Amino acid sequence: MPTVIPAPVMPVIPVRGGEGGFPVRRIYCVGRNYADHAREMGGDPNREPPFFFGKPQDTVVPGGGEVPYPSRTSNLHHEVELVVALARGGRDIPVEAAEACIYGYAVGIDLTRRDLQAAAKDKGQPWDTAKGFDHSAPISPITPAAALGHPSSGAIWLEVNGTERQRGDLAQMTWRVPEVIAHLSSYVALAPGDLIFTGTPSGVGPIVRGDRVRCGIDGLGELEIVLA
Ligand code: MN
Repeated sequence: MPTVIPAPVMPVIPVRGGEGGFPVRRIYCVGRNYADHAREMGGDPNREPPFFFGKPQDTVVPGGGEVPYPSRTSNLHHEVELVVALARGGRDIPVEAAEACIYGYAVGIDLTRRDLQAAAKDKGQPWDTAKGFDHSAPISPITPAAALGHPSSGAIWLEVNGTERQRGDLAQMTWRVPEVIAHLSSYVALAPGDLIFTGTPSGVGPIVRGDRVRCGIDGLGELEIVLA
């Protein structure tokens, strides 16, 4: 059917070594998936079931670069995360079948208006404006699992203006990627094009206009943003 307004554009993320890009359907995020970060946020580091929130599709910033400092915050935080890109989906995906759904992996930053998130938590309100704002999901090019395999360990780090702020290891994740996919698919039907941000290690903190943020994960390359 012809559309009465221009159809929204689906974001596409570059793929390393590939000839095409990865089209984005939905963006899911896992909260508190590293025990040391759960502790620094005042939470329980024990193995509670994972919880999820979302970001709109068009919040991705493919390849990083310049990111405008968002409105309505004075405490913007960085959270470096392993991002999973799905080639297949389904409902109630068993843990053993989850890796077969994965197209590849990337480095992402879950940008967070921490002041709005704290206020929302206090009042029992939703996190959408704290997490799902414009440009809130910078992401590196995707590395296909066919080239890399499925990383379950390896360094994950982030530095601001050359000073290290976050360093962890994928092996510290409370819920491993296949478990995250299994849990998430019990709530929603996953589909090709979905991205899952899998949580951040400790060391989250504020960034301001002019800051240069570099981050990376072993085997997945690096992502850099500059706050404008
Ligand atoms: Mn996060």
